[in-house]
Amino acid sequence: MILACKHCDTLVRVSSLGEQQRAICPCCKNEIVSYQANQQQWLIAFSLTSLLFLFSSLYPSFISFSQHGLVQDISLWNTFSLLADKYSLVLSGIFVFSTFLIPLFICLLLLLTNSHYWQDLNPHNARYLARLLNKIKTLNLSDIFLVAVLVSVFKLMSLADIRFGPGFWAYILFVICFIETLSLINETELWERQQMLFQPALLHDGKSARAQELKQCLICSQLTRETHCPRCYSKTYFRKPNSTQRAIIWMVTATVFLIPANLLPIMNTINLGNETPATIFSGVVVMWQSGSYPVAILIFIASICIPIIKAVALFYLIFQSRKCSHPKRASTIYRWLEIMGKWSMIDVFVVIILVSLVQLGTVLSVEPHVGIVFFTVMVLCQIVAVNSFDPRILWDKFHNHE
Ligand SMILES: [Zn+2]
Ligand SMILES: [Zn+2]
Repeated sequence: MILACKHCDTLVRVSSLGEQQRAICPCCKNEIVSYQANQQQWLIAFSLTSLLFLFSSLYPSFISFSQHGLVQDISLWNTFSLLADKYSLVLSGIFVFSTFLIPLFICLLLLLTNSHYWQDLNPHNARYLARLLNKIKTLNLSDIFLVAVLVSVFKLMSLADIRFGPGFWAYILFVICFIETLSLINETELWERQQMLFQPALLHDGKSARAQELKQCLICSQLTRETHCPRCYSKTYFRKPNSTQRAIIWMVTATVFLIPANLLPIMNTINLGNETPATIFSGVVVMWQSGSYPVAILIFIASICIPIIKAVALFYLIFQSRKCSHPKRASTIYRWLEIMGKWSMIDVFVVIILVSLVQLGTVLSVEPHVGIVFFTVMVLCQIVAVNSFDPRILWDKFHNHE
């Protein structure tokens, strides 16, 4: 069969793949499709195991924290309710969604799409479910949350005695299973089980799909010349509509928010009645001075360098899309931007964890500050900006010159 590469629009002929084989685009080196034996069974097994560990992580003890004889035992559930009651419903919502509800929903969707109900589902409903799965997959932040828990523990080690409860170990096992689950998702195979692939006439591999007036459906990857996809009935486009303009608007908004996010304090630490506000940068300095070099470097890269690199890189890609002088390099940069996306959220989670965990009244407590809201909005705007950008425009002029 012939498939179009999602990153450069080149048509690639893929013969049947053997076990553990992947088809790579010869033009931009992006992965086009992969094959794993018994993929469906593995997906069901991993989704069920992930669900089991996810629910076990709600066990009453996630982390316990003690100082001067005062002990605070906290569960994931306490964290959600405490944040919602005392501080911000929005912050609590983002937290519940990204660490618990979205993984839960992804696992349930995967169980449904791999069961026999999937074949009987009408294409309209299947399209909604597939689109939903595609969108929410990028919003899963459970792995980042786990790294943030470890960073918070490093921050608190000098102040108090910390112990991990069964809930924490269950969450670690959940993240490991869930990462494997996500890597097993194969959208092409999913649609082949729902409906057959319609192979349009006159396909020559090696050329771009657009050169043969073919549009690739963004939901199910079907190639078509119609205005609506024959397989899932979604509207089809040659390129994402207004992708450059939307990417610019979201990235400029993110860059504006970057200023208050870095200048305003993100949290207040109250230790024996003394209030110390901390910005992102001062947090890094404190970690460095206390000798936690790896954590200081991690936070510095994730919270300060990555947002700046992402903004510069995306503007570079937009500039490149007009010239198309180095499309291969530009495609590699885009792949990196997609991977880096969520790592800036570490600091948001660190603040959320510290706020929920450290609640010993005036002895020691942590409160969130307005900077963290600006920071969260900035990170989310950047993720949307990268997703709105269509990497295929990086290759358009290059294909035209061929
Ligand atoms: Zn490609
Ligand atoms: Zn489609």
